[in-house]
Amino acid sequence: PLSFTAGQHVGDDLWVSVLDGGPRQYVDLDTAATSSASVAVAQAVQEFLPWYASVHRGAGIRSQLTSKRYEEAREIMVRFVGGDPRTHLALFPRNTTEALNLLAFRLGLTKDDVVVTTAVEHHANLLPWRRHARLRVVDVDTSGTFDVAAVEAALDQHPRPRVLAVTGGSNVTGWLPDLRAIAAAARQRGVLVVVDGAQLVPHRPVDITALGIDVIAFSGHKMYAPFGAGALVAPRALLADGEPFLVGGGAVGAVSFDDVVWADGPDRDDAGSPNVVGVVALTAAADELRSDGWSSVRAHEDHLVRALDSELRSVPGLHRLGPVTGDRLPVAAFNLEGVPHGLLAARLANEYAIGTRSGCFCAHPYMGRLLGLSDAEVDRFHADVRAGARHRLPGAVRVSANRQ
Ligand code: PLP
Repeated sequence: PLSFTAGQHVGDDLWVSVLDGGPRQYVDLDTAATSSASVAVAQAVQEFLPWYASVHRGAGIRSQLTSKRYEEAREIMVRFVGGDPRTHLALFPRNTTEALNLLAFRLGLTKDDVVVTTAVEHHANLLPWRRHARLRVVDVDTSGTFDVAAVEAALDQHPRPRVLAVTGGSNVTGWLPDLRAIAAAARQRGVLVVVDGAQLVPHRPVDITALGIDVIAFSGHKMYAPFGAGALVAPRALLADGEPFLVGGGAVGAVSFDDVVWADGPDRDDAGSPNVVGVVALTAAADELRSDGWSSVRAHEDHLVRALDSELRSVPGLHRLGPVTGDRLPVAAFNLEGVPHGLLAARLANEYAIGTRSGCFCAHPYMGRLLGLSDAEVDRFHADVRAGARHRLPGAVRVSANRQ
Protein backbone atom coordinates (compact mmCIF):
# COMPACT_ATOMS: atom_id res chain seq x y z
CA PRO A 1 0.00 0.00 0.00
CA LEU A 2 2.90 2.38 0.53
CA SER A 3 4.91 3.90 -2.26
CA PHE A 4 8.65 4.29 -2.34
CA THR A 5 10.98 6.47 -4.36
CA ALA A 6 13.10 3.81 -6.00
CA GLY A 7 16.84 4.08 -6.30
CA GLN A 8 17.54 7.05 -4.05
CA HIS A 9 18.67 5.01 -1.09
CA VAL A 10 21.27 2.36 -0.68
CA GLY A 11 18.80 -0.20 0.71
CA ASP A 12 16.03 0.41 -1.84
CA ASP A 13 16.28 -2.79 -3.79
CA LEU A 14 16.88 -5.62 -1.37
CA TRP A 15 15.38 -9.06 -1.91
CA VAL A 16 15.10 -11.64 0.84
CA SER A 17 13.95 -15.24 1.15
CA VAL A 18 10.86 -15.78 3.24
CA LEU A 19 9.57 -18.89 4.99
CA ASP A 20 7.04 -19.87 2.35
CA GLY A 21 9.55 -19.79 -0.46
CA GLY A 22 10.63 -17.39 -3.14
CA PRO A 23 12.42 -14.11 -2.77
CA ARG A 24 10.41 -11.05 -1.91
CA GLN A 25 11.39 -7.43 -2.12
CA TYR A 26 12.18 -6.28 1.38
CA VAL A 27 9.93 -3.54 2.72
CA ASP A 28 11.52 -1.65 5.55
CA LEU A 29 8.83 -0.16 7.77
CA ASP A 30 11.26 0.50 10.59
CA THR A 31 12.83 3.70 9.35
CA ALA A 32 11.98 5.56 12.56
CA ALA A 33 14.64 3.39 14.17
CA THR A 34 17.23 3.80 11.42
CA SER A 35 17.03 4.86 7.80
CA SER A 36 19.45 3.53 5.22
CA ALA A 37 21.97 5.92 3.72
CA SER A 38 21.03 7.89 0.64
CA VAL A 39 23.08 7.46 -2.51
CA ALA A 40 24.29 11.06 -2.18
CA VAL A 41 25.54 10.35 1.34
CA ALA A 42 27.29 7.17 0.23
CA GLN A 43 28.98 9.11 -2.58
CA ALA A 44 30.14 11.87 -0.25
CA VAL A 45 31.69 9.28 2.06
CA GLN A 46 33.29 7.43 -0.85
CA GLU A 47 34.90 10.64 -2.11
CA PHE A 48 36.17 11.58 1.32
CA LEU A 49 37.58 8.19 2.36
CA PRO A 50 40.96 8.54 0.59
CA TRP A 51 41.48 11.93 2.16
CA TYR A 52 40.76 11.61 5.82
CA ALA A 53 43.51 11.96 8.38
CA SER A 54 43.76 13.18 11.96
CA VAL A 55 41.62 16.16 12.89
CA HIS A 56 43.40 19.11 14.53
CA ARG A 57 46.35 16.91 15.31
CA GLY A 58 48.44 16.84 12.16
CA ALA A 59 50.34 19.32 10.00
CA GLY A 60 50.01 17.37 6.75
CA ILE A 61 47.78 18.36 3.85
CA ARG A 62 45.29 15.56 4.47
CA SER A 63 45.06 16.58 8.10
CA GLN A 64 44.52 20.20 7.13
CA LEU A 65 41.80 19.24 4.69
CA THR A 66 40.11 16.94 7.21
CA SER A 67 40.19 19.59 9.93
CA LYS A 68 38.70 22.15 7.55
CA ARG A 69 35.87 19.79 6.53
CA TYR A 70 35.20 19.10 10.20
CA GLU A 71 35.00 22.75 11.22
CA GLU A 72 32.90 23.66 8.17
CA ALA A 73 30.53 20.89 9.18
CA ARG A 74 29.74 22.74 12.41
CA GLU A 75 28.47 25.71 10.45
CA ILE A 76 26.52 23.53 8.03
CA MET A 77 24.72 21.78 10.87
CA VAL A 78 23.99 25.00 12.77
CA ARG A 79 22.47 26.52 9.64
CA PHE A 80 20.61 23.29 8.83
CA VAL A 81 18.47 23.81 11.95
CA GLY A 82 18.16 27.57 11.53
CA GLY A 83 20.83 28.65 14.01
CA ASP A 84 23.42 31.37 13.59
CA PRO A 85 27.04 30.11 13.63
CA ARG A 86 28.11 33.34 15.38
CA THR A 87 26.00 32.51 18.41
CA HIS A 88 25.53 28.75 18.11
CA LEU A 89 27.82 25.81 17.69
CA ALA A 90 27.36 22.21 16.67
CA LEU A 91 29.00 19.36 18.54
CA PHE A 92 29.18 15.89 17.06
CA PRO A 93 28.28 13.26 19.62
CA ARG A 94 27.51 9.77 18.35
CA ASN A 95 23.76 10.21 18.45
CA THR A 96 20.85 11.89 20.22
CA THR A 97 21.38 9.80 23.34
CA GLU A 98 24.99 10.89 23.72
CA ALA A 99 24.07 14.48 22.87
CA LEU A 100 21.49 14.66 25.64
CA ASN A 101 23.75 12.92 28.15
CA LEU A 102 26.48 15.42 27.31
CA LEU A 103 24.12 18.35 27.68
CA ALA A 104 22.58 17.19 30.95
CA PHE A 105 26.08 16.80 32.36
CA ARG A 106 27.34 20.11 30.98
CA LEU A 107 24.52 22.17 32.44
CA GLY A 108 25.86 21.47 35.92
CA LEU A 109 22.45 20.44 37.25
CA THR A 110 22.00 19.21 40.81
CA LYS A 111 19.24 17.26 42.49
CA ASP A 112 17.84 20.63 43.62
CA ASP A 113 17.17 21.49 39.99
CA VAL A 114 13.94 20.61 38.25
CA VAL A 115 13.70 19.59 34.61
CA VAL A 116 10.26 19.63 33.06
CA THR A 117 9.81 16.83 30.61
CA THR A 118 6.86 14.91 29.19
CA ALA A 119 5.33 11.45 29.27
CA VAL A 120 5.83 11.21 25.50
CA GLU A 121 9.64 11.16 25.67
CA HIS A 122 12.02 8.52 24.41
CA HIS A 123 14.25 7.27 27.24
CA ALA A 124 17.08 9.34 25.72
CA ASN A 125 15.26 12.49 26.77
CA LEU A 126 14.27 11.17 30.21
CA LEU A 127 17.13 9.24 31.74
CA PRO A 128 19.96 11.81 31.35
CA TRP A 129 17.76 14.41 33.08
CA ARG A 130 16.66 11.94 35.73
CA ARG A 131 20.31 11.19 36.48
CA HIS A 132 21.28 14.80 37.10
CA ALA A 133 18.12 16.53 38.30
CA ARG A 134 14.55 16.03 39.47
CA LEU A 135 11.93 15.37 36.81
CA ARG A 136 8.57 17.10 36.63
CA VAL A 137 6.56 15.27 34.01
CA VAL A 138 3.82 16.72 31.81
CA ASP A 139 1.44 13.79 31.57
CA VAL A 140 -0.63 12.79 28.56
CA ASP A 141 -4.37 12.40 28.26
CA THR A 142 -6.05 9.26 26.93
CA SER A 143 -5.23 10.24 23.34
CA GLY A 144 -1.52 10.15 24.17
CA THR A 145 -1.04 13.91 23.77
CA PHE A 146 -0.78 16.96 26.01
CA ASP A 147 -1.61 20.59 25.41
CA VAL A 148 0.36 23.76 25.98
CA ALA A 149 -1.67 24.60 29.09
CA ALA A 150 -0.36 21.41 30.73
CA VAL A 151 3.20 22.49 29.96
CA GLU A 152 2.52 25.96 31.36
CA ALA A 153 1.11 24.44 34.55
CA ALA A 154 4.30 22.40 35.00
CA LEU A 155 6.50 25.41 34.28
CA ASP A 156 4.61 27.46 36.88
CA GLN A 157 5.02 25.01 39.74
CA HIS A 158 7.68 25.71 42.35
CA PRO A 159 10.57 25.52 42.29
CA ARG A 160 10.96 27.07 38.87
CA PRO A 161 12.51 24.54 36.47
CA ARG A 162 15.83 25.18 34.78
CA VAL A 163 15.15 23.15 31.67
CA LEU A 164 12.22 22.09 29.53
CA ALA A 165 13.16 18.93 27.63
CA VAL A 166 10.59 17.96 25.02
CA THR A 167 10.45 15.81 21.94
CA GLY A 168 9.99 17.33 18.51
CA GLY A 169 7.98 14.27 17.41
CA SER A 170 7.01 10.97 19.01
CA ASN A 171 8.81 7.83 17.88
CA VAL A 172 5.76 5.79 18.95
CA THR A 173 2.77 7.63 17.55
CA GLY A 174 4.31 10.24 15.24
CA TRP A 175 2.53 12.95 17.22
CA LEU A 176 4.04 16.44 16.83
CA PRO A 177 3.79 18.65 19.91
CA ASP A 178 3.22 22.36 19.25
CA LEU A 179 6.87 23.28 19.67
CA ARG A 180 6.47 26.95 18.91
CA ALA A 181 3.90 27.50 21.65
CA ILE A 182 5.67 25.23 24.13
CA ALA A 183 9.01 26.95 23.56
CA ALA A 184 7.40 30.38 23.91
CA ALA A 185 5.88 29.39 27.26
CA ALA A 186 9.24 28.21 28.56
CA ARG A 187 11.19 31.18 27.28
CA GLN A 188 8.75 33.66 28.83
CA ARG A 189 9.61 32.02 32.14
CA GLY A 190 13.36 32.00 31.54
CA VAL A 191 13.52 28.21 31.16
CA LEU A 192 16.02 26.66 28.74
CA VAL A 193 14.27 24.89 25.86
CA VAL A 194 15.86 21.60 24.80
CA VAL A 195 14.34 19.63 21.93
CA ASP A 196 14.94 15.98 21.13
CA GLY A 197 14.92 16.33 17.36
CA ALA A 198 15.66 12.69 16.53
CA GLN A 199 12.32 12.10 14.82
CA LEU A 200 11.54 15.65 13.75
CA VAL A 201 14.69 16.61 11.88
CA PRO A 202 14.48 13.93 9.15
CA HIS A 203 10.88 14.88 8.35
CA ARG A 204 10.42 18.62 8.77
CA PRO A 205 12.48 21.77 8.24
CA VAL A 206 13.51 23.01 11.68
CA ASP A 207 14.26 26.65 12.43
CA ILE A 208 15.35 26.90 16.05
CA THR A 209 15.45 30.69 15.86
CA ALA A 210 11.88 30.99 14.60
CA LEU A 211 10.65 28.30 16.99
CA GLY A 212 12.42 29.75 20.03
CA ILE A 213 14.40 26.58 20.77
CA ASP A 214 17.70 26.91 22.63
CA VAL A 215 19.20 23.48 22.06
CA ILE A 216 18.42 20.63 19.67
CA ALA A 217 19.85 17.12 19.45
CA PHE A 218 19.51 14.64 16.60
CA SER A 219 21.04 11.51 15.03
CA GLY A 220 22.56 11.03 11.59
CA HIS A 221 21.33 7.45 11.27
CA LYS A 222 17.70 8.58 11.29
CA MET A 223 18.26 11.11 8.51
CA TYR A 224 19.87 9.00 5.76
CA ALA A 225 23.43 8.97 7.08
CA PRO A 226 25.03 5.91 8.72
CA PHE A 227 25.55 5.38 12.45
CA GLY A 228 28.06 7.13 14.62
CA ALA A 229 27.55 10.85 14.13
CA GLY A 230 24.78 13.04 15.47
CA ALA A 231 24.60 16.68 16.37
CA LEU A 232 23.98 18.86 19.38
CA VAL A 233 23.32 22.45 18.35
CA ALA A 234 23.49 24.84 21.30
CA PRO A 235 24.27 28.48 22.13
CA ARG A 236 28.02 28.98 22.36
CA ALA A 237 27.62 30.72 25.72
CA LEU A 238 25.95 27.66 27.24
CA LEU A 239 29.01 25.48 26.71
CA ALA A 240 31.69 28.11 27.21
CA ASP A 241 32.63 27.14 30.77
CA GLY A 242 32.80 24.07 32.91
CA GLU A 243 34.25 20.62 32.77
CA PRO A 244 33.60 18.65 29.58
CA PHE A 245 31.54 15.45 29.53
CA LEU A 246 34.40 13.44 28.03
CA VAL A 247 37.94 14.27 29.11
CA GLY A 248 41.15 13.48 27.25
CA GLY A 249 43.27 14.65 24.35
CA GLY A 250 41.96 17.50 22.23
CA ALA A 251 39.79 19.02 24.97
CA VAL A 252 42.67 20.76 26.69
CA GLY A 253 45.07 23.68 26.41
CA ALA A 254 47.54 22.49 29.06
CA VAL A 255 47.80 19.46 31.35
CA SER A 256 49.98 18.58 34.32
CA PHE A 257 49.40 15.96 37.00
CA ASP A 258 47.84 18.63 39.19
CA ASP A 259 46.15 20.97 36.76
CA VAL A 260 44.16 21.11 33.53
CA VAL A 261 43.39 24.15 31.41
CA TRP A 262 40.41 23.24 29.27
CA ALA A 263 40.35 24.33 25.63
CA ASP A 264 37.81 26.89 24.54
CA GLY A 265 34.65 25.65 22.85
CA PRO A 266 33.98 23.67 20.75
CA ASP A 267 37.27 21.81 21.29
CA ARG A 268 36.51 21.51 25.00
CA ASP A 269 33.70 19.12 24.06
CA ASP A 270 35.73 17.17 21.55
CA ALA A 271 38.01 14.88 23.55
CA GLY A 272 39.36 11.99 21.51
CA SER A 273 39.64 11.64 17.76
CA PRO A 274 36.29 12.55 16.25
CA ASN A 275 34.26 10.58 13.72
CA VAL A 276 34.99 12.88 10.83
CA VAL A 277 33.78 10.41 8.18
CA GLY A 278 30.48 10.22 10.01
CA VAL A 279 30.34 14.00 10.14
CA VAL A 280 30.93 14.23 6.39
CA ALA A 281 28.01 11.81 5.94
CA LEU A 282 25.88 13.88 8.31
CA THR A 283 26.49 17.11 6.43
CA ALA A 284 25.83 15.40 3.09
CA ALA A 285 22.50 14.17 4.48
CA ALA A 286 21.65 17.65 5.76
CA ASP A 287 22.58 19.27 2.44
CA GLU A 288 20.48 16.75 0.55
CA LEU A 289 17.45 17.17 2.79
CA ARG A 290 17.65 20.92 2.38
CA SER A 291 18.20 20.92 -1.35
CA ASP A 292 15.54 18.30 -2.08
CA GLY A 293 12.89 20.79 -1.09
CA TRP A 294 10.84 20.15 1.99
CA SER A 295 7.55 20.52 0.18
CA SER A 296 8.09 17.37 -1.88
CA VAL A 297 9.25 15.43 1.20
CA ARG A 298 6.18 16.67 3.03
CA ALA A 299 3.77 15.81 0.22
CA HIS A 300 5.19 12.31 -0.02
CA GLU A 301 5.13 11.73 3.72
CA ASP A 302 1.62 13.11 4.12
CA HIS A 303 0.58 10.60 1.51
CA LEU A 304 2.27 7.88 3.58
CA VAL A 305 0.42 8.99 6.72
CA ARG A 306 -2.91 8.80 4.89
CA ALA A 307 -2.01 5.40 3.41
CA LEU A 308 -1.02 4.09 6.85
CA ASP A 309 -4.24 5.41 8.36
CA SER A 310 -6.52 3.90 5.78
CA GLU A 311 -4.74 0.54 5.50
CA LEU A 312 -4.54 0.07 9.25
CA ARG A 313 -8.20 1.06 9.64
CA SER A 314 -9.18 -1.73 7.29
CA VAL A 315 -7.57 -4.53 9.34
CA PRO A 316 -10.13 -6.26 11.58
CA GLY A 317 -9.14 -6.36 15.26
CA LEU A 318 -6.34 -3.83 14.88
CA HIS A 319 -6.09 -1.24 17.67
CA ARG A 320 -4.01 1.87 17.00
CA LEU A 321 -2.25 3.63 19.86
CA GLY A 322 -2.29 7.39 20.17
CA PRO A 323 -3.76 10.13 18.01
CA VAL A 324 -4.95 9.30 14.51
CA THR A 325 -5.87 12.80 13.40
CA GLY A 326 -3.91 15.97 12.77
CA ASP A 327 -0.41 16.54 11.50
CA ARG A 328 1.73 13.47 12.26
CA LEU A 329 4.89 11.76 11.16
CA PRO A 330 4.51 8.50 9.20
CA VAL A 331 4.69 6.34 12.33
CA ALA A 332 1.99 4.11 13.79
CA ALA A 333 1.86 1.70 16.71
CA PHE A 334 -0.83 -0.93 17.07
CA ASN A 335 -1.88 -4.29 18.43
CA LEU A 336 -3.80 -7.03 16.74
CA GLU A 337 -6.39 -8.72 18.93
CA GLY A 338 -5.28 -12.15 20.07
CA VAL A 339 -1.78 -11.97 18.54
CA PRO A 340 1.24 -11.15 20.73
CA HIS A 341 3.10 -8.16 19.26
CA GLY A 342 6.41 -10.03 19.09
CA LEU A 343 4.84 -12.86 17.11
CA LEU A 344 3.14 -10.46 14.73
CA ALA A 345 6.40 -8.62 14.02
CA ALA A 346 8.23 -11.91 13.51
CA ARG A 347 5.61 -13.16 11.04
CA LEU A 348 5.62 -9.89 9.12
CA ALA A 349 9.39 -10.22 8.73
CA ASN A 350 9.74 -13.93 8.08
CA GLU A 351 6.65 -14.56 5.99
CA TYR A 352 6.08 -11.21 4.28
CA ALA A 353 9.54 -9.59 4.25
CA ILE A 354 8.19 -6.54 6.06
CA GLY A 355 10.51 -5.08 8.67
CA THR A 356 8.74 -3.58 11.68
CA ARG A 357 9.56 -3.29 15.35
CA SER A 358 7.77 -4.59 18.40
CA GLY A 359 8.01 -3.85 22.10
CA CYS A 360 7.91 -0.54 23.90
CA PHE A 361 10.19 1.48 21.57
CA CYS A 362 12.44 2.93 24.30
CA ALA A 363 9.46 4.87 25.59
CA HIS A 364 8.17 2.72 28.45
CA PRO A 365 6.31 5.44 30.37
CA TYR A 366 4.53 6.58 27.20
CA MET A 367 3.65 3.03 26.22
CA GLY A 368 2.34 2.44 29.73
CA ARG A 369 -0.04 5.34 29.21
CA LEU A 370 -1.03 4.35 25.68
CA LEU A 371 -1.75 0.77 26.71
CA GLY A 372 -3.63 2.00 29.77
CA LEU A 373 -1.43 0.04 32.20
CA SER A 374 -2.30 0.49 35.86
CA ASP A 375 0.43 1.15 38.42
CA ALA A 376 0.17 -2.48 39.49
CA GLU A 377 0.65 -3.64 35.89
CA VAL A 378 3.70 -1.39 35.51
CA ASP A 379 5.10 -2.88 38.72
CA ARG A 380 4.52 -6.36 37.36
CA PHE A 381 6.23 -5.43 34.09
CA HIS A 382 9.29 -4.29 36.07
CA ALA A 383 9.24 -7.38 38.26
CA ASP A 384 8.96 -9.65 35.20
CA VAL A 385 11.90 -7.92 33.50
CA ARG A 386 13.94 -8.14 36.70
CA ALA A 387 13.17 -11.85 36.77
CA GLY A 388 14.52 -12.19 33.23
CA ALA A 389 11.25 -12.34 31.25
CA ARG A 390 11.66 -11.71 27.54
CA HIS A 391 8.28 -12.71 26.16
CA ARG A 392 4.68 -11.70 26.68
CA LEU A 393 5.65 -8.32 28.05
CA PRO A 394 3.34 -5.39 27.24
CA GLY A 395 4.02 -3.66 23.95
CA ALA A 396 2.88 -3.13 20.40
CA VAL A 397 4.05 -3.31 16.79
CA ARG A 398 5.34 -0.16 15.16
CA VAL A 399 5.49 0.64 11.48
CA SER A 400 7.23 3.73 10.20
CA ALA A 401 8.13 5.03 6.79
CA ASN A 402 9.96 7.92 5.18
CA ARG A 403 10.75 9.04 1.68
CA GLN A 404 12.76 5.82 1.17
N1 PLP B 1 14.71 10.35 20.64
C1 PLP B 1 13.81 9.82 19.82
C2 PLP B 1 12.49 10.52 19.66
C3 PLP B 1 14.09 8.67 19.11
O1 PLP B 1 13.19 8.14 18.28
C4 PLP B 1 15.35 8.06 19.29
C5 PLP B 1 15.68 6.79 18.62
O2 PLP B 1 14.84 5.96 18.41
C6 PLP B 1 16.26 8.65 20.16
C7 PLP B 1 15.91 9.79 20.82
C8 PLP B 1 17.61 8.06 20.41
O3 PLP B 1 18.34 8.10 19.24
P1 PLP B 1 19.77 7.40 19.19
O4 PLP B 1 19.52 5.94 19.42
O5 PLP B 1 20.24 7.69 17.81
O6 PLP B 1 20.58 8.01 20.25
